[in-house]
Amino acid sequence: MSQKIQIEDHVTVGTLAEKLSIPVSRLITELMKNGIMTTINERVDFDTAQIIVHELGLDYEIVKKEAKPIEILRVRPGQGMLSDKAVPRPPVVTFMGHVDHGKTSLLDAIKGSQVVKQEAGGITQYISAYYIVHNGRPITFLDTPGHEAFSAIREHGVRLTDIAVIVIAADDGIKPQTIEAIRFAKQADVKIIVAINKVDKEAADVNRVKQQLADQDLLVEEWSGDVVAVEVSAKTKQGIDNLLDMILLVADVEDLRAEINVPARGLIIEAHTEIGRGSVAHALVEWGTLKKGDYIVSGATFARVRNLESVDSQPLMAATPSMPVILTGFKTLPEFGDEFEVVADEKIAKNLAQKVVSERYDNGSRFDLSSSDLISLINRTNKVQYFNAIIKADVRGSLTSVVDSLKVLDTDEVAIRIIDSGIGMVGENDIYIARTSGAVIYSFNVDIPSNIKRLATRDKVTVRRYNIIYELIDDVKAELSKLLLPEIIETEQGYLRVKAIFKTIKTEVICGGEVIKGPLSVPALARIMRDKKKLAEVKITNLKRGPQDVQTVQEKELCGVSMYTDSRLELLEGDKIEFFTRQSKERTL
Ligand code: GDP
Repeated sequence: MSQKIQIEDHVTVGTLAEKLSIPVSRLITELMKNGIMTTINERVDFDTAQIIVHELGLDYEIVKKEAKPIEILRVRPGQGMLSDKAVPRPPVVTFMGHVDHGKTSLLDAIKGSQVVKQEAGGITQYISAYYIVHNGRPITFLDTPGHEAFSAIREHGVRLTDIAVIVIAADDGIKPQTIEAIRFAKQADVKIIVAINKVDKEAADVNRVKQQLADQDLLVEEWSGDVVAVEVSAKTKQGIDNLLDMILLVADVEDLRAEINVPARGLIIEAHTEIGRGSVAHALVEWGTLKKGDYIVSGATFARVRNLESVDSQPLMAATPSMPVILTGFKTLPEFGDEFEVVADEKIAKNLAQKVVSERYDNGSRFDLSSSDLISLINRTNKVQYFNAIIKADVRGSLTSVVDSLKVLDTDEVAIRIIDSGIGMVGENDIYIARTSGAVIYSFNVDIPSNIKRLATRDKVTVRRYNIIYELIDDVKAELSKLLLPEIIETEQGYLRVKAIFKTIKTEVICGGEVIKGPLSVPALARIMRDKKKLAEVKITNLKRGPQDVQTVQEKELCGVSMYTDSRLELLEGDKIEFFTRQSKERTL
């Protein structure tokens, strides 16, 4: 049994080494390997001590002298906790909108004044979220392209964002990407705040933007609607405070809450490798309290949280809902959009991750014609197989005719499912949607920009461009044909009568018989018939004439037959073995 060492919340490196009976230098080296630079007099916390002892492979168990209650990091000011379980949590906000309308500049303007300055050396180049405090209240901003945030929703059915700030440049007005952003936000059922940016510019026309918003069914408050629109300038910082006030106001109305005294779960929002730190993940805690030393599993990988830091690289004891954090300790890189959750121990974490590995990477569903495949094929026959597609076209008229012509291709067995369609060039969002839905993108009469081609290659998305509608339709037909079940062709060979049974084991039977109708050849399948009733279907594995293995036996000949069976087969003299072959033939629409 391992020896127990009691420590409080913190212990100095010197004292810990003494308790463990190891040289201080060995402990300092191990801490360094884990990215913690210390000296003999510096303190490490309980979780770090526990992890280091584990990594040193020492037979000590570190136990806490006195359990300290988890610090509740956030409570809505003035209100206190509304229940002893769920507490309000800060809003998670994403900026979305047309390129160059000022998303980055607005985030910079907010960060510039509000984000706690990073310590020298602690700067990380992979910031994916910011945690700011406005009027004493935290707000989390995700610096993830809006469409990525939303594709995570599609893939995982979770809502990454509470509030989408739609940024519209006052001098440019609503653009296609703005409309797309609005559509995404509405689909995901997140609250929308409009930031009318660049109001410092001479050409700014705020009223025009409001009118355009009304055209999109977004009526601003001044026009008796319910959409909060804030006039801002990332350049002069005008309106930034007001924007943050509005974000908090909308959050209050939403009454966002989460449990904190439960094991944490959340989402991976970024992951990369760092020299000396291994896999580094940025995650958003959504539920519960995440602590250093927790075992977490995320998709196909798991970790014991080695370092838990804020996004400005400050070590944290614990993180609560809506907090973006940096984690180290993952065995392999987790994937963007994957959920993470805390589990009881390493074994559970490992097993869960392993299960996901097998699910994600074992796709042994290739088609061959064994009996079990045939059964699954038969089971499939009642279900319609869908081919997912996204259609982009140059003008409304051509889009309508393409979509209409494709719909008539549907049969009882296969059908096209148009995931999305629109006018204009294939964009990043199309690629993301295609990736998450496994759709093929058809671009009719519109070019595919080279950056989109690159993105498509990276994400393994198929984008096909056509100028002639019939060629596009033929392509879809070919895709649908691939989904059609193949035609099964059975060819009878003949049969033999069983004269003697030589061997019967669980999966194999060897018998002798006389060919009544031939010739019979291997390889073949056979039906075992007794009194006109089918007993089983078997696979003929060998034929013998005397002691000799042969491919074919002729009518009236005596022969030996070896057969493979799925389940035990009690063959009797006089049974009939009907030889046949089964082939599949692809079909086309
Ligand atoms: P994004 O593509 O939406 O992230 O847009 P950026 O933040 O990169 O901004 C695009 C351009 O607009 C940059 O040149 C910014 O300097 C400029 N810009 C952004 N906000 C403002 C603003 O409020 N006023 C003015 N005059 N220029 C701005």
